[in-house]
Amino acid sequence: MNDKSKLEAERRAKLLKSRAERLPDIKKQFEENQKRNFNANFAPGGKDEKLVAKSHKHAKNAPKGQKKASNGKKSTKNQANAKNATNQTDKHSEVKLLVSTRKGEMVHHQRMLSQDVNAQATQHIVGIPVNKSRYNGFNGNQLTLSQIRTARPSRDAVRIIPVGGLGEFGIGKNMTAIEYQGEIILIDMGTLFANADYPGVNYMVPDSKWLDDNRDKVKAILFTHAHLDHIGACRHLLPYFGPLVPIYGSAFTIGMIKKQMSEVPDVPEMNYQVVNPMEHKDIRLTPHLSAEFIHMLHSIPGNCAIAVRTPNGTIMLSGDWRFEDNPMDIPADYDRMKEIANTEGIAVLLNESTNIDVPGTHPHSEYDVGDNIGKVMDNYATGRIIISCFSSQVKRIECVLREAAARGRKVAFAGFSMINNVEVALRAKAIKVPKDTIMKMEDIVKLPDEKVTIVCTGSQGEMNAVLNRMVTGAHRHIKVKASDTIVFCSSPIPGNEPKIMGTVDGLLREGAQVIQHNKTHLTNIGPLHLSGHAYYEDHVKYVTDLHPKNYMPYHGEFYMLEHNAEMAENVVGIPRDHILVADDGDIVELMPDQTIRKNGRIPVGNKLYDDADQQVNEAVVKDRIHISREGIFVVILTISKKTGRLIKTPDIVSRAFIYLDNSEELIGKIRHYLRAKTDHTVNSDADLKTLKDEIKEDVTHILYDATGHTPIVIPVINKV
Ligand SMILES: [Zn+2]
Ligand SMILES: [Zn+2]
Repeated sequence: MNDKSKLEAERRAKLLKSRAERLPDIKKQFEENQKRNFNANFAPGGKDEKLVAKSHKHAKNAPKGQKKASNGKKSTKNQANAKNATNQTDKHSEVKLLVSTRKGEMVHHQRMLSQDVNAQATQHIVGIPVNKSRYNGFNGNQLTLSQIRTARPSRDAVRIIPVGGLGEFGIGKNMTAIEYQGEIILIDMGTLFANADYPGVNYMVPDSKWLDDNRDKVKAILFTHAHLDHIGACRHLLPYFGPLVPIYGSAFTIGMIKKQMSEVPDVPEMNYQVVNPMEHKDIRLTPHLSAEFIHMLHSIPGNCAIAVRTPNGTIMLSGDWRFEDNPMDIPADYDRMKEIANTEGIAVLLNESTNIDVPGTHPHSEYDVGDNIGKVMDNYATGRIIISCFSSQVKRIECVLREAAARGRKVAFAGFSMINNVEVALRAKAIKVPKDTIMKMEDIVKLPDEKVTIVCTGSQGEMNAVLNRMVTGAHRHIKVKASDTIVFCSSPIPGNEPKIMGTVDGLLREGAQVIQHNKTHLTNIGPLHLSGHAYYEDHVKYVTDLHPKNYMPYHGEFYMLEHNAEMAENVVGIPRDHILVADDGDIVELMPDQTIRKNGRIPVGNKLYDDADQQVNEAVVKDRIHISREGIFVVILTISKKTGRLIKTPDIVSRAFIYLDNSEELIGKIRHYLRAKTDHTVNSDADLKTLKDEIKEDVTHILYDATGHTPIVIPVINKV
């Protein structure tokens, strides 16, 4: 056993012992939770006892209620009939629909459908989130509207406001505001990738009315690193704050932001400020707020934690981070982190939560990944090697270049973001490139196979990324062949597994070799990837070393935040009332006595964007979901101004619903209905609207009767 593993074993033993000592506490906590749980609240003496009593009353009345309901139904039906009757006298013919289903059935179907569509299309709406975590700042009680209304900000408080990135459906959209007496600074502006529930939506961007209202108070914008979940929203948000506000970040981060902004038309030159974190400079941002960038390791160059110094103490934002003993990048400036913790003390630590559920510590270094890429090149020396990884993994790309150069191989890059990132990395001097190794794609394909190495995007199985295009033959220069070896230097992002499998299947069908990270048993080669985020035990060490007064998990879904908070309480030993599990929009106040509390909320939400960076309205998303499930059905009528009668056979367009050629009977039925319906003159616009509404409803009914579906029906009426 070497010294390092001995030390590690000792540390673990100590940790386990301290956990054993804490076990009674944890049990007590569990019992407390039992008391707080739902059922206990309803037990006699519980806080929701009254509700139970109420519901009993209800149950007793139920038969009566039901009767009442059925009466109600009848009366609405009567009303409807009455309405129809009056309608009949004033205008349109009441046409008897030849249907066997009741209208109520159709209405029920429509209601269920619209509930489903709403639920699917509103997952990004924040409102007042349910948060009964014991770390919610209210002893596990749900925050109420009246609490928000009566919240009065304290003048002396420093306000920490997560605008995005906490407890949403996916990791991303990171953005934090810090405010003191009308001075606001912002940290990060990320995007969140929309999932398949949002057809046609590519990503989401933080949206906050509070920021809109306080735009002029924003004095500085700081960025921890250049991943899209931290800078992706720059193109939409930076122009909004104007060209004067200083924008701080490391050389690589600013390079990536500039690249992004260069794609936006009509943006004036922004006030970019490149920070060298190694200088430990305290940057004055406002009369009361200053910040220091601290170099930390992650899976991208130029990654920093940020210490914000405020009148009420130092707030440390961890950004994204991992530990690494033998990094390719400049070693982390962890000593500086500890120095800040030990000299000035950290009043609040906001710590990322991404890998809190992964046990243990970081298993290996990026060099091991490099060695294994070299191994692949040795074992499959006669063919082309195609390596797929995240385009922001600049240090991994450096590994590939080094290993290739050592073997006389050349390297070409494929994929827009891959080429972009390498360019920015070269400019920011974040990557070392061996001489005469990089070639253009169109040139490298002319070399013999054993000289060819290609680094490309598509490791997540993205349909339109380079790797898939090479499989299908849609790529301009390369079609995968049996002598190729494809290496996946990545882990699947949760949710992407099926797409990746599809890509792997495609590659194997072409006869190619596929080598994936985490499948070492198949090829005896691995690991081929290293996560950018700290594991559980790393967090224990980090939080223990930084011993913050208060702790706030951020950068994660709700379960990650909760598990992160539990770690801080149960393992590190931070008292529960110094830990907050917050949501986007919560106003967290750091008081002059360095206590923290939640005090009110700001309105927050998401703006949706498509892959052309154009905003998508929520109503459009709902229509798309509706159409994807039920289709769309258009009837076009040409009627005479004089008689109101049809002049020609109505045109019918069906999309994503039924195939018209196979539906003659149904179409005939609808044409018949439309003929009968149009036998009155329509004089006013109001008449026309009523006619349209009735046609819409009746046609929907006929279609539902025949198919069990209620497509979006659009009647178009031309008067000639
Ligand atoms: Zn990151
Ligand atoms: Zn991140």
